[in-house]
Amino acid sequence: MFHKPLLVLFFSFIISISWSQNHEVCFTFDDLTFVPYSHQDIGFQQMMTAKLLETLKENDIPAIGFVNETKLYQEGSLDEQRVGLLKEWLAQGFELGNHTFSHANYHQVGFEKYTQDILQGERVAKPLLEEFGRHYKYFRHPYLRIGRSKAAHDSLNLFLASHGYQEAPVTIDNEDYLFAAAYDKALASEDEGLQSKVGSAYIRYMEKKLLYYQQMSNKLFDRNIKQILLLHANALNADFLDALAEMYRQNGYTFISLEEALEDPAFNTPISKYGDWGISWLDRWALSLGKGGEFFEGDPRTPRFIRDLLK
Ligand SMILES: [Zn+2]
Repeated sequence: MFHKPLLVLFFSFIISISWSQNHEVCFTFDDLTFVPYSHQDIGFQQMMTAKLLETLKENDIPAIGFVNETKLYQEGSLDEQRVGLLKEWLAQGFELGNHTFSHANYHQVGFEKYTQDILQGERVAKPLLEEFGRHYKYFRHPYLRIGRSKAAHDSLNLFLASHGYQEAPVTIDNEDYLFAAAYDKALASEDEGLQSKVGSAYIRYMEKKLLYYQQMSNKLFDRNIKQILLLHANALNADFLDALAEMYRQNGYTFISLEEALEDPAFNTPISKYGDWGISWLDRWALSLGKGGEFFEGDPRTPRFIRDLLK
């Protein structure tokens, strides 16, 4: 006969292993150095970047930030304090990637201008990473616009590969930027009640988004793939990152790097359906597999009061 308490212990051990293996997420932050909204002063951006990075470290989150180098310039000249924000990410052990120089939309500017913007976007960061013994090797498409056709996507991927880049997909897309703009208003009005109301609504919304894409992954792959969450470098995420990390942990998640996430074979799933959209890779795979209509039902909406705050 098995010893019952030991047996229970054994099975809970197995369950906890499979639970954590199936719940992994990479946190990615776009639009570095920072999305300041009304808070343009460098002191605020330094303080918020420090808070963001400190909270990432406290929570053992191996995050990556994607840079728009246009943000390193002030009135046409390179601003050392803004370059200093990038150095902070690197000095504290975080990864950086290219997000084009000017946050260009591939669907609007076309291949030539877009690829020039990618190259212009590596002038400062690429040598900076090399100083830190790393390679500038990940690319995130602004607006998640990867090309309106297979030919446009393929030619971009060929260009990226020939310049040592790999595309950095997103599986958990969301509207954190709307909450962040609302939060900026709450900060500017020094309304602490509104700040915490926006923050709590943000975490609840992000949990619904997580569960939505987790369920989509299970429907498409019969398992929860390694997820990649899109976030932006802003004050909302600096102030509520701890709560966001806690919510992910409560849902059984551990935090992984982009390199680890991309080891998931799901990222080799072919995309055959294209359009003028910026969407999650889970959405792209679903569309490519012929899903439509009710398959996408239940996508959580940003609450009305957040949109109202932005009017
Ligand atoms: Zn962006």
